[in-house]
Amino acid sequence: MSVQTLYSDGARPVRRVVIAGGGTAGWMVAALMGKLMGKLLDIRLVESEEIGTVGVGEATIPALHTYHELLGLNEAEFMAATQATFKLGIKFEGWKAPGEDYIHSFGLTGKDHWSAGFQHFWLKGRERGLAAPYGDYCLELRAAEEQRFAHLPNNGMNYAYHLDATRYARFLRGLAEAHGVRRIEGKIAAVLREQPGEGDLTALQMEDGSRIEGDLFVDCTGFRALLLGQTLGVGYEDWSHWLPCDRAVAVQTASVREAPPYTRSIAHPFGWQWRIPLQHRVGNGLVYSSRELSDADAPDMLRRHVEGELITEPRLLRFQPGQRHEVWHRNCVAMGLASGFIEPLESTSIHLVQRAAIRLMRLFPAGGIREVDVREFNQQTTQDLQHIRDFIILHYHVTERDDSALWRHVRTMAVPETLRHRIELFRETARVFRPLDELFAENSWIQVMMGQGISPQHHHPVADLMGDAELSQFLNNIRSQVSRQLAGLPPHQAYVERLCAPY
Ligand code: FAD
Repeated sequence: MSVQTLYSDGARPVRRVVIAGGGTAGWMVAALMGKLMGKLLDIRLVESEEIGTVGVGEATIPALHTYHELLGLNEAEFMAATQATFKLGIKFEGWKAPGEDYIHSFGLTGKDHWSAGFQHFWLKGRERGLAAPYGDYCLELRAAEEQRFAHLPNNGMNYAYHLDATRYARFLRGLAEAHGVRRIEGKIAAVLREQPGEGDLTALQMEDGSRIEGDLFVDCTGFRALLLGQTLGVGYEDWSHWLPCDRAVAVQTASVREAPPYTRSIAHPFGWQWRIPLQHRVGNGLVYSSRELSDADAPDMLRRHVEGELITEPRLLRFQPGQRHEVWHRNCVAMGLASGFIEPLESTSIHLVQRAAIRLMRLFPAGGIREVDVREFNQQTTQDLQHIRDFIILHYHVTERDDSALWRHVRTMAVPETLRHRIELFRETARVFRPLDELFAENSWIQVMMGQGISPQHHHPVADLMGDAELSQFLNNIRSQVSRQLAGLPPHQAYVERLCAPY
C-alpha cells in the first residue's frame, strides 16, 4: 500500500489543525503550536465546559522549563497565575517499608569520575566508615529536607513546580488565543471520516449541528479518546499486571502549614496517597487498587488522611494504566490521557504532553502526512513510555512491604526484562547507565533504588585506589560545599511569597 493511500490521499498539505479537548493537554499543545506555527496554520480548539476536565495533574518535573522557554513565559507571572510553588523532588514515605522514608530529588549527588559514578566512591566510603548519608551530597535533596529554596546562577538549583491544573489551562489558553488559536465551546456529537467507518478524519460534528473540518486532528479528549480510540479504533496495551492501581480519588484542602518544596507520596496497604502543596491550597488524592479498597470507601479513607478543611468534594477517577498501540494514526495524534496513562507517581503525564507537543512540532507534516514521520513519532513515544513505565514499576517492585495482596503481588511479579536487567546490574555492580534521551537520569535511578532498599554488592575498583585520607577529603569537600550553599538559601515559603507579591 502506498503512503498516500495509507495516510492521506495525495499527501494533502496540512493547514487546518483541530484540537479536540481543552484540558491541560489540549491547551499545552494549542499554546505551543500557536506560538511556533500560528502564522502558518489555522488552529481551533474545541472544549466543553459541561464535560469539564480531570482537574488533577499538579506536580511537574524540571523538563517543564524547556516548554516554558519555548513559550517565552515570565516565571513570576506564571507562578502568580497558577499559584505555583517550587518542587525539588518527591518524598516517598513508607514505600520501602512502613515508617521508612526517602527523597527522590532533582539535581545531582556528589561528583562523578570518568570511569565511575559518585555512588561507587560513596559505597567505598561507607564501607570504611567515612561517608555521611548519601543525600548529604545533594543540594536539592538537602534543600527539600530543610524547606529552603532560591534560584542559583548557572542552573545551580534543579527544580520544577507544583501548580493549579485548572489555572494552568486557563493561563495557557490566554497565550494560545493571543497567538491566534480559536476556541470553540460545545460538545462533540460525532467524529466524521472520509467514508463511514473508513479513511481519515474529516470533521467534528458538534451537538449544535455545526461542523469543524480539519486536515490534522489532535485528540486531547482525556480518558474518552473520542478520536483515536473510539473513532479510529486504535487499541490499548494494558499494563495493569505491573501497575495494579486503577482508581484515584482527589480532593483539595486548605493549607494549614508552610508549603514544603516537595511532593509527598505516602504508601498505604491499598496503594498510595499524594499531597501537593500550592500557594493557596493543597491537592490531595489516593491512588488505589479497586481490589484493595472499594470506591464507596475511598472518599472516607481520603478524608481520614488529609489535614485542613476540605474545599472540594472528593472526586473519583477510574483509569487503566497503559498506552495506545499507536498515538499517531492516520491524521490523528493523541496527547495527554487520550494517549495512555501511567500513574502519577513521578509526575510524568504533563511531561509526556510536552514531549508529544514538541515532537509534533519537529515532525509537523506541513507538506502532507507521511508514513515515515508517523512511524518515527510512534517509535519515539513508545521509547519514552516504556522507560517511564519501568521507572514507576521499580518503586512498587523493590520493596519490603507485604501488608496487603497488592504489595505481595508487586514484590514478586515478573517485571519487564529492561527493568530486571537494570535492577540486577545495580544490585551486583552499583552501575547505572542512561541511554540517550531517557528522561530519568542516573541520579534518579540510584536514589530510588537505594531508597527502596537495594544495597549494591560491589563497586567500581577505581574507588579502591583512594586511600582513607584522600577519599575522606573528597567526600567531605562535596558535603561542605552542599552545606555552605544550603546555609545561604532562604525558606521556601518566604521566597515564593516575595517572588509572587504584587508590585
Ligand atoms: P482532560 O483534563 O480530561 O481534558 C479532556 C478535555 O476534552 C476537556 O476539555 C473536555 O471538555 C474535552 N472533551 C471530552 N469529550 C468531549 C466532547 N464530547 N466534546 C467536547 N469536548 C470534550 N500529571 C502530572 O504531570 N502530574 C501529576 O501530578 C498528575 N497527577 C494526576 C493524578 C491523577 C489521579 C490523574 C488521573 C492524572 C494525573 N496527571 C498528572 C495527569 C494529568 O492530569 C493529565 O495528563 C492532564 O491533566 C491532561 O489531561 P487531558 O487534558 O488529557 O484530559
